[in-house]
Amino acid sequence: MGEPPGPLRKPLSEWAGILDAARLRVLFQDGTEAPWTSPLNDVKQAGTFICAACYLPLFEADAKFDSGTGWPSFFRPIDPARIATQLDFKLGVPRTEYHCARCGGHQGHVFDDGPAPTGQRYCNNGVSLLFVPQGQPLPALRD
Ligand SMILES: [Zn+2]
Repeated sequence: MGEPPGPLRKPLSEWAGILDAARLRVLFQDGTEAPWTSPLNDVKQAGTFICAACYLPLFEADAKFDSGTGWPSFFRPIDPARIATQLDFKLGVPRTEYHCARCGGHQGHVFDDGPAPTGQRYCNNGVSLLFVPQGQPLPALRD
């Protein structure tokens, strides 16, 4: 996939003019979407999931699995360099938050109870992703 593109940093005010309120809240204001609300839960076809803020491709559909949690779930990112993590203590127990390495937009949390071959479960907010079916061109990265 080549090297990940350089970081994109925008002030919140600029994202607020680009993203709808639901995406802005989850991506940049510490929100979490309610489970079972994302149409991406039901996507089974081949394609690519891209960051809803900057359009960086983060997950391929062949790494998606049915976790039963109500959030789109993946067992590995396209490239680990596209995901950045930090410890999150919001629920009192440490969890590993992950976000788009390019724009910093919050995606979800990663857990060690996923399926083979990685054993990881990337539990992603649906609003933080867009799905591009296979055969459709990926949009140019937002800058
Ligand atoms: Zn991004």
